[in-house]
Formats: sequence, C-alpha cells, structure tokens
Amino acid sequence: MIVNQIFIVSTLFKSFKEDVLSGKSKYYDFFTAVKSGTPEVMTEFFREIVTYVKYQKHPKIVKDAFRELVQLRDIIVLEKLRQLMPIWKDSYYMEYAYLLALLENASSGKRCNCDIYKDSTYNVAPYQEELEIIGRDNHRYDDHFETQIVYVRCRICTREWEVEIDDSYHYPHSHWRPKQK
Ligand SMILES: [Zn+2]
Repeated sequence: MIVNQIFIVSTLFKSFKEDVLSGKSKYYDFFTAVKSGTPEVMTEFFREIVTYVKYQKHPKIVKDAFRELVQLRDIIVLEKLRQLMPIWKDSYYMEYAYLLALLENASSGKRCNCDIYKDSTYNVAPYQEELEIIGRDNHRYDDHFETQIVYVRCRICTREWEVEIDDSYHYPHSHWRPKQK
C-alpha cells in the first residue's frame, strides 16, 4: 500500500469510530461510502474492522465487514473467520458458515463460487454479482403449486445452472442443478 492509502484508511477508521461506534451514524451508510473507494482501501478498511471492532459488542458490523472481505476474496482474513466460528453458534451461525465456505473455496484455488452456491446447505439465491441471468421459467407441479426457475451462467467458469425457487416456505428456498443443454 502506498503512503497516501495508508493515510486514507487510518482517517476512515478514525471517523468510523467517532461517527459509527459512538452511535451517531449508521454503519451501512459508512460502508457504502467506503465501497466507492479503491479495492485496496476497501480491503484495508474492512480488515481494520474485523481486527479491532469487538464482535461481542458489534456482531452485525463485524459480520458485514467479513461479508465485504469475502466478496473481495481476501483470504488473509480466513484464519480470523475460522477463529470466530464457535462464537457464532446462536446468532448468524449459518451466515458465518456460508462466508467461511466461500473463503475456504477461494483459498483452495477455485476461481468462482459455483461449488458453494450449488451446495444446498447454504440456500443461495441465483442473484449473485458474477452470474448472468439467461432465462426464466415456471414449473407447475399441480393446480396450486408452482415454482420459479431462473437460469444463470457464471461469468467466470461459464457453467450454466438451473435454479428452482420454492416460495412455499417462510423464506424462498433455492435448489441448484446443472442446466440441461
Ligand atoms: Zn462458476
């Protein structure tokens, strides 16, 4: 990192503590502003958050900072994320498990996230940044029961998926299958 960026990150983190941790402004507004910066500044800023912000006190902030780092595939924070896993047993456990799976996948050298998305454990909706929607359909099982089908192509590995979305639960369930040619 160049000196100028180090200065930017330390200034950002200082005002984050003053404005957000004090309760003056919302953390997600601050995150949105940081995300308009360079990837280097973003990465360094979110690393500061997961390193110095207390997860017992601010679990949501730490979780969402990890979410951004996972999006950036920052495998430097993998060990930190692993260490926090036992703490999240009750709250956010599945969300953490999903973030950890994504980062383990990136760390193993996989170029895209498809192998995690298709794993039914994580119930991933087909609306992810690197996926292109290539078609939609409905599937009717009987007179009352219908599911949506979204066809997507991964821009990285080019695999195509058929994702069936079942809305008959409290929240939508997504089932991933390789798209039939
Ligand atoms: Zn892929």
